[in-house]
Amino acid sequence: MIKTAEAKSDNIIETSQEKREWFLMEFAKPFKCEKCTERFKKKKYLREHKSQIHSY
Ligand SMILES: [Zn+2]
Repeated sequence: MIKTAEAKSDNIIETSQEKREWFLMEFAKPFKCEKCTERFKKKKYLREHKSQIHSY
């Protein structure tokens, strides 16, 4: 009865935890700085980061 996507997914996605983590990160912190590799949850944080780290 309790058949989630897990049962189906194992022949498509080959247990790539890394991929999943990457996806979660991408999802949780969609705002990335184009000048470095920092990521942010909110646009505001990105803007603050830019003005502090890449100020000119
Ligand atoms: Zn940056």
